[in-house]
Amino acid sequence: TPLVAIVGRPNVGKSTLFNRLIGRRKAIVDDQPGVTRDRNYDTLEWNGQEIGVIDTGGYLPKTHEHIDLAVREQVEIAVDEADLILFVVDAKTGITDIDEDLASILLQSNKKTLLVVNKVDSVEWEYEIGQFYNLGLGEPIPVSAITGKRSGDLLDLIIEHIRAVPARDM
Ligand code: GDP
Repeated sequence: TPLVAIVGRPNVGKSTLFNRLIGRRKAIVDDQPGVTRDRNYDTLEWNGQEIGVIDTGGYLPKTHEHIDLAVREQVEIAVDEADLILFVVDAKTGITDIDEDLASILLQSNKKTLLVVNKVDSVEWEYEIGQFYNLGLGEPIPVSAITGKRSGDLLDLIIEHIRAVPARDM
């Protein structure tokens, strides 16, 4: 099963997006900082294609003095293990230093990456999408994990890219 890894700094909405993609209605996102979530991997089927999705943020503490290092390490593991990376950024905060740091790791890795701009909940946030071109990872893909807006479009793109990468023994 091809593996898609959701990466990004804390609070961009990785876990919410994971739940949205997997289609689990029961929210397992916890607003409390530092809460460990145990369901970080699941599979879904879309247009006849099965894919595995991993939420790397599920392994991270939300607040920690070395959070940047921990996030960076998760991204490096994801780059090694996944067939496709979903790099999640936040329309409401814009680009941060950690985003830039992670983007450069992903660029250097040559791993196929989709740049997902989360929290585009309504039209007013559409104006924030363009700035993410500056990360150099191609066209920003807007979604709203909370409302589910355009999550189907994202799944279409994921399948398109998964089918374009050679199959691996897993
Ligand atoms: P993670 O740390 O990257 O896994 O982020 P979470 O999924 O825990 O989400 C962090 C916060 O952002 C939570 O308060 C979520 O409710 C909120 N959030 C996630 N997705 C969206 C979205 O699409 N729109 C808005 N407005 N908030 C969101």
